[in-house]
Amino acid sequence: MLKSLSSLRVVARISVVFVMLACVCSGSFAQEIDSSSMPEPEVITSGAMPGAPPSDAIILFDGKDMSQWLDKDGGPAKWEVKNGIVTVNKTGDITSKQEFGDLQLHAEWATPAEVKGEGQGRGNSGIYFQGRYEVQVLDSYNSKTYVHGQAASIYKQHPPLVNASRKPGEWQVYDIVFRAPEFDASGNVTKRATFTVFHNGVLVQDHVEVLGTTSHEGAPKYTKHPEKQPLKIQDHGNPTRFRNIWVRPLN
Ligand code: MG
Repeated sequence: MLKSLSSLRVVARISVVFVMLACVCSGSFAQEIDSSSMPEPEVITSGAMPGAPPSDAIILFDGKDMSQWLDKDGGPAKWEVKNGIVTVNKTGDITSKQEFGDLQLHAEWATPAEVKGEGQGRGNSGIYFQGRYEVQVLDSYNSKTYVHGQAASIYKQHPPLVNASRKPGEWQVYDIVFRAPEFDASGNVTKRATFTVFHNGVLVQDHVEVLGTTSHEGAPKYTKHPEKQPLKIQDHGNPTRFRNIWVRPLN
């Protein structure tokens, strides 16, 4: 009996030594992280005020003109620019001249102060990343619609975590991080796109996966497209306004 007990102790000690060795070999013991191979972050100048473009931003609308945008036929965008604001005016969707992959976007928007229409007919617009994946713009202040179609939803896919909408006519802010999808040679999606969205500074989409091209009816599905594609802003027939639109392509 005594002999078997001492044998058990020996086995236990040997086991502890093996576990410790395994931890050392697998790096389980915390080690200080060496920064010597990490690149120096580029120095940029942040905007003077929250929402102002940082020095490395590409300005897509600075209140002066629509020179960075095309209309649905590829001609100059015809949305009305006045007093630093551009207003959707039933001349059709607009598309950015530049094409983008992964992207940080800032945009400010306001639905009409005078409330007209209901649900999807109230201040509807939308920002389509890569021309396909819509973050909804809508008056969702005391206005009901299907939850995955309200403001700050990934349209018909993900409702926002909370409704951070301001009153009709008030300026609202989107800060959005979009990661583009990847496809294999046969056209199958190998990495879905993702969105992280802040609405008026509040996290409303937390790195959600995009299920495919935005679709009003039927299941969303992916169709292979080039790595970089233009942005699109929707003309849904409502006079929604935009200002201060800028982006930062992400590597
Ligand atoms: Mg829309």
